Amino acid sequence: MVHISTSLALLGAFVSLASTSTANVLPRQTSDTTFDYVIVGGGAAGAVLANRLTENRSVSVLLLEAGPDNTGKIEAVVPYIYSRLFGSDWNWNYTIVPQPGLNNRVVPYFRGHVLGGSTEIKYHRLTVSKNEQFVPGTNDNGRFLSSTHGTSGPIGVSLNQVNQWILEPTLTAAQQSGVWAFNQDNNDGDPIGISWQQFAIKGGQRSSAATGYLNQQVRARSNLKIQVNSRATRSNPLTFSTVEYKNDVTGATGQVTARRDIILSAGVIDTPALLLRSGLGPTADVQAAGITPLVNLPAVGQHFVDHAGTPIAWQVNTTLTDDEIDKNSTLLNQLLDEWNASKTGRLTTTSLAHIQFSRLPSNASIFQTVADPQEGKADAPHFEALLANKWTLLAPRPATGNFVGMTHFCLSPLSRGSVRLNPQNPQGAPLIDSGSLSHPFDIFTLRYAIRQTARFFQAPVWRTYNAQPVFDPAILDSDSALDEYIRNNSFGGAHGVATAKIGKANSPAGTDVVGPDFRVKGVSGVRVVDASVIPFSPGGHAMVPVYVVAEKAADIIKANP
Ligand SMILES: Cc1cc2nc3c(=O)[nH]c(=O)nc-3n(C[C@H](O)[C@H](O)[C@H](O)COP(=O)(O)OP(=O)(O)OC[C@H]3O[C@@H](n4cnc5c(N)ncnc54)[C@H](O)[C@@H]3O)c2cc1C
Repeated sequence: MVHISTSLALLGAFVSLASTSTANVLPRQTSDTTFDYVIVGGGAAGAVLANRLTENRSVSVLLLEAGPDNTGKIEAVVPYIYSRLFGSDWNWNYTIVPQPGLNNRVVPYFRGHVLGGSTEIKYHRLTVSKNEQFVPGTNDNGRFLSSTHGTSGPIGVSLNQVNQWILEPTLTAAQQSGVWAFNQDNNDGDPIGISWQQFAIKGGQRSSAATGYLNQQVRARSNLKIQVNSRATRSNPLTFSTVEYKNDVTGATGQVTARRDIILSAGVIDTPALLLRSGLGPTADVQAAGITPLVNLPAVGQHFVDHAGTPIAWQVNTTLTDDEIDKNSTLLNQLLDEWNASKTGRLTTTSLAHIQFSRLPSNASIFQTVADPQEGKADAPHFEALLANKWTLLAPRPATGNFVGMTHFCLSPLSRGSVRLNPQNPQGAPLIDSGSLSHPFDIFTLRYAIRQTARFFQAPVWRTYNAQPVFDPAILDSDSALDEYIRNNSFGGAHGVATAKIGKANSPAGTDVVGPDFRVKGVSGVRVVDASVIPFSPGGHAMVPVYVVAEKAADIIKANP
């Protein structure tokens, strides 16, 4: 075991909340610079840890967040307009390196850059009862299973409460086409089928890690200090219990010390980047970035896995789609007025209402050459499809017309990528190689998924709306043409995991990064708790798995500080 004192040089603006209404005085501090734990990153995992660790009032915590506080943007509160945050300063605005699997296109890779992290810019959720406060609406009978849900957790959850035109044809088409059986609750342990989607929305307003786990009561704790606009960029390998800052506003630098641990919760991209900048990672990658290697950890930044997403659209003859809101600012403003007045109306939810999870048939030809990644698990989906009441392709919406979009995710991908530092600019944006669609299983699955969707749109009910594909339907008959569509229209995903994998205490050297106590192997004083430790792709979206991991990690850290 190499004992390295952790020193993360935080070259970012340092705005201490000590000067705001959320000011804290730490009872055990001899100065404002020493804490029991320093958590880097205030997203899903960091917010849970900050909350849970400070439940013990004798433990002091500093939470450092690179982005701003999660206040002051209406898009963070009004569900319908959340996607406008994608293009804002609340996003790291990363792109992935050109992907052969995506015909070498450069596509965005969204990551939240704000207190609350990526939970501030996401939409749907899988649930887990400990962290949810499920609030049923008056029409929700038969649309969820109450026994599956919690009612007193920090994150508000509800179903779509707006009676949109698309609800009836969606359920009818599922039945008529036989593509998806109705599943009353996709969170009851078996997600397969079509279900009403559950959203992190309560009372018409969005919930996030920041609103839930870092609410005003938690922020008022005297043993918790939150610093926003503080970006860690590299470590000083000589003092591994000390975190250094630079205040970008004043240019001043500072230091804080973690008496116990520094906990990296900077997410699937920035946690491996911080480890690499600290000299912890594959020796060759660290050296390539001009950094002195400290501990050879071959798995740092490796095994990156995400769900590539493939949208496809049908045109419909109703003007009731949400395209009308998106192209008519007067209408949007009227709806915003309604939302402001009463937190009601169309903007209380997104353009999604149902979600579909599917398995490939057991005799699918791909299984002649590839072992089923979900073999033997009858309730584990291979892919997902999300129907939206509007255009959802990355390509701009056509000037005229109304659309419904279906986005498909391969949930059991075998493609793998990596996160490395840019040798030309090690402190800048990391090189994100999502490896998208590099494995034949993933593109086979998306091909199957789109053909299944096409069958769904052939259901008689869609004739009422004259649903027509916004692509040449001949591609459905040709694997190579369909592959070309998929490679030209997919994006890299938003559910990345595994760049600092967790493993057994005695796993073979180099196969993982942290052990069961979330400590970085071979290093003292550093733990990692966030999406990057999740060792394989969850068969669904990643946020709740991260909440679960962070809750578990908090229990472990409390029991074994
Ligand atoms: C656009 C989008 C949509 C999504 N939709 C869904 C969904 O519908 N359902 C679902 O389940 N999941 C969804 N996800 C995934 C989910 O949000 C993430 O899996 C989850 O938030 C990951 O948690 P985390 O704590 O690992 O990272 P994050 O929540 O991303 O938090 C990391 C935090 O660390 C901060 N940080 C990074 N670097 C530094 C640094 N150097 N110094 C200080 N702070 C730093 C970041 O600013 C961020 O606040 C979505 C993600 C995105 C991006």
